[in-house]
Amino acid sequence: MKIEIPDGVERIIQKLNHQGYEAFAVGGCIRDTLLGREPKDWDITTSASPWQVKELFGRTIDTGIQHGTVTVMDGRTGYEVTTYRVDGEYEDGRHPKSVKFTSSLKEDLKRRDFTVNAMAYSHKRGLVDEFGGLKDLKSQVIRCVGKPEERFGEDALRMLRAIRFSAQLDFSIDPGTWAAVKAVAPNLKKVSKERIQAELTSLLLSPHPERIELVYQAGLSPYVALSFHQVIRSQLCIDPGLPAKKHIRWAVFLKDTEEEEAVEVLRELKLDNDTISRVRTLNRWICRQIPAGKVQIRWAMSQMEPSLFDDLLLLKKSLGQPWATEMKWLTEEIRKAGDCTSLKELAISGKDLLAAGMKPGKHVGEELNRLLGLVLERPELNQKEILLHLAVLR
Ligand code: ATP
Ligand code: MG
Repeated sequence: MKIEIPDGVERIIQKLNHQGYEAFAVGGCIRDTLLGREPKDWDITTSASPWQVKELFGRTIDTGIQHGTVTVMDGRTGYEVTTYRVDGEYEDGRHPKSVKFTSSLKEDLKRRDFTVNAMAYSHKRGLVDEFGGLKDLKSQVIRCVGKPEERFGEDALRMLRAIRFSAQLDFSIDPGTWAAVKAVAPNLKKVSKERIQAELTSLLLSPHPERIELVYQAGLSPYVALSFHQVIRSQLCIDPGLPAKKHIRWAVFLKDTEEEEAVEVLRELKLDNDTISRVRTLNRWICRQIPAGKVQIRWAMSQMEPSLFDDLLLLKKSLGQPWATEMKWLTEEIRKAGDCTSLKELAISGKDLLAAGMKPGKHVGEELNRLLGLVLERPELNQKEILLHLAVLR
């Protein structure tokens, strides 16, 4: 079987081979290529030690040298080259206590999570598939390498990874693997919130975001976070046609949850502040009816960034809310007309008010907001002279 691999990867493999080391493309890139999908990145596994890799290549970065990973730069592209390793015993289900390097590719493949992620390839040796990955790829199954309970005991995050890959690839989870997830679900409490969040976010961004339901079915949800466990999912149906943006997907997932509780979920899972603030705004406005009138729409537009308002319209449409299509038209008309919908676009600034004799203080901002309110109702008022005339100078 011949697999296309990028020139850069081939150059690295050849150079390692020339020095007498084994080297293969491995993991997700082989899985994705066999599925006809574009791999996100290409990883290389080799019998050479990290120090030998560093010596051999001009430009390298110590990405995770304690775990045997060195990034080799080929032009502008970096490839992670990792030494064959056997993960030692896992401490607290989080990190391997020790990493042992090995000279055996099979050992390296054996430590990997799922059969479909445990294949390696080189032009010289062809596909190396020690654990039935190709068969599982064909029957579209996520199955642990080795005994599932043991593997989830070593690293509990793998349970969420199983669900995440099933959602990304539209694969089922092998019954034995699934039974093990249910049996050892409480182990997830040992995993850091950041790692959990990264998997849940990938899951929500996938073509099957609704499979987040499996996290609940497996009994994993209480160990994700208490607030997450309590999310209301009565009519959970996430339109996979919605743009794969973090804040949009999290907002749909949390659409029936109260604003403060939704924010709590995201905080507990350590999402970034930017995403939290966008989800908060979307959450607040999803449940508000915006009447299909220009004044009300301009008012809503003034409450968020233009791109977030577009996202809100998409969400409302995908949720089948009334007037979503009409709102979109009216929004376009408002934008075409160049109506003011933010303080930035107001024809008058704080400076102008001060120059006109207003005393500094927080009432300057309040007055600007009041004027904005007038302009949202009557866009034709957005002219400096008119607004100066209307301003109450205190
Ligand atoms: P993606 O396309 O999402 O990057 P991937 O398969 O490349 O998928 P990574 O998380 O980038 O996933 O990991 C690369 C490879 O490392 C996996 O294919 C798998 O072989 C191995 N791996 C990653 N995380 C684990 C883990 N927690 N336990 C065991 N093996 C893992
Ligand atoms: Mg990857």
